[in-house]
Amino acid sequence: MKLEWKKASNAQSTRLHEVEGVPFLTFPKLEEAGVTHGFSTRLGGVSEGIFASMNLSYNRGDEKASVDENYRRMGKAIGFTPDQLVFSNQVHDTKIKIVTKEDCGKVMTGMDGLMTDEKGICLVTSYADCVPLFFYDPVKGVVAVSHSGWKGTVNRMGKKTVEKMESVYGSKAEDIIAAIGPSICQKCYEISEDVAIQFADAFPEEWYDTFMVDKGNGKYQLDLWKVNEYILLDAGILKEHLDITDLCTCCNPELLFSHRASKGKRGNLAGFIRL
Ligand SMILES: [Zn+2]
Repeated sequence: MKLEWKKASNAQSTRLHEVEGVPFLTFPKLEEAGVTHGFSTRLGGVSEGIFASMNLSYNRGDEKASVDENYRRMGKAIGFTPDQLVFSNQVHDTKIKIVTKEDCGKVMTGMDGLMTDEKGICLVTSYADCVPLFFYDPVKGVVAVSHSGWKGTVNRMGKKTVEKMESVYGSKAEDIIAAIGPSICQKCYEISEDVAIQFADAFPEEWYDTFMVDKGNGKYQLDLWKVNEYILLDAGILKEHLDITDLCTCCNPELLFSHRASKGKRGNLAGFIRL
């Protein structure tokens, strides 16, 4: 499958793979560290209409059988079985759940982050413009994912995830390999003044000036990738251990689900990571 991507940068920080007609994305530093992970596209599945074709959401109105088949195909491509999945029901908060084998097949309600040190558990989070954050500590053997939309970002979800890896598993931030995954780019992400004010209040001015553009009409453009980079580096992640995506969901609406580009008529993408 030849896919025409509009790239937001030349970072070469998101790799495309394809297994049996199912494309998926990975991040070079996590790949080189040897951890099983991936991010879906909207191609290679069986769903139809606004869900075409790789919809990975059970609660947006798609047929359950289609979503089951989509998960089976993603699993075959990325390397997990459906019975290993632990799902999150994300609410734009910063709660992170430590999961175990007993959680496989279940939905973690009200959780925007999942974390485990057990093998054979595949953590799943869902997206359509919000920022996926992936974490792997090869020293302590811990994986985590967190969902960081603007609310999660203003509340430093990425830093909270690193701190939880440190407090629960004794991880050291400098050992953690991380990735900021496909999501909405600054050019596409216009926000209102009340949101901009929250970012101005939450972050140092020298950061704010590089991640926010004031368009002058009460509208602003927010670079969620840049803020999350600041947050992760501030948490102690090393720059050489961090991949920042070059793919915007809204710039590539034929290839990725975008809430903004579809005006909400859409399925969900998903991020996966497993020890
Ligand atoms: Zn864009």
